[in-house]
Amino acid sequence: MTVFIISAPSGSGKSTLVDELRRHVEGLDFSVSYTTRHPRGSEQNGREYFFVPRAEFEDMIGRDEFLEYAEVYGKDYYGTARRFLRAAEQNGHDLLLDIDVQGAAQIKQKIPDAATIFVLPPDRKTLEWRLRNRGSDSEEERRRRLDTARREIENYDKYDYILVNDRLEPSVDQLKAIVLSERLRHSGRALSAAEEATLATAERSRLKNMRDRVQPILDSFRDDNGQH
Ligand code: ADP
Ligand code: 5GP
Repeated sequence: MTVFIISAPSGSGKSTLVDELRRHVEGLDFSVSYTTRHPRGSEQNGREYFFVPRAEFEDMIGRDEFLEYAEVYGKDYYGTARRFLRAAEQNGHDLLLDIDVQGAAQIKQKIPDAATIFVLPPDRKTLEWRLRNRGSDSEEERRRRLDTARREIENYDKYDYILVNDRLEPSVDQLKAIVLSERLRHSGRALSAAEEATLATAERSRLKNMRDRVQPILDSFRDDNGQH
């Protein structure tokens, strides 16, 4: 099985991409994280997250039920329950984790074969616009997420693949190619021409092939200290 980890600054469009991926790719389980934050908008307990009180989360830490957990935005706990990994293994499925930079680092230590993907917005202004457009966070919350984004994106080079979520459809195709290419590489069999093409598409998102594309995005976060 392959564990896929996807991280992104909040508002980059990661949830949108993951929803699309899950609709198009079979045999990919999604780990529903536990969190102490409150549900947002139409979020439902057990679907986007398991929303639990802090005391319950800390009990789970005590019982060693988490594969990893972290305090995100210095405010709320988020954690991946071990049971999702076990269940995916039993079902012969791959597992997709939507977790932050700290969680990704913890998993990569425990599961070095995990494939890690970092999603970036095209630039800072677009990120701010998407956060505002989503309309589910307060002004203060948005500000905190933008500040965190600036720090988080500095970690892009700890990831195997970089995906710039500019137009949605090509981004979904690219994400699909990454997942399928990891499966093909693990299959150990001879590949068809179409499968070789999928591998080549995925290679374009490899960290080493993305540095030039990433630089102006990093600059857009560094130049503008959130003022506008
Ligand atoms: P995240 O999960 O990274 O916090 P969301 O998936 O909630 O982000 O996306 C943030 C907002 O941006 C949503 O309103 C979403 O519809 C929109 N969005 C996502 N991807 C794109 C895209 N490629 N182009 C334009 N808008 C997008
Ligand atoms: P949000 O509050 O926007 O849903 O998520 C905030 C951040 O927490 C995102 O970066 C998301 O990837 C991260 N996150 C969600 N679940 C987990 C988890 O189980 N572990 C860790 N470490 N981070 C998580």
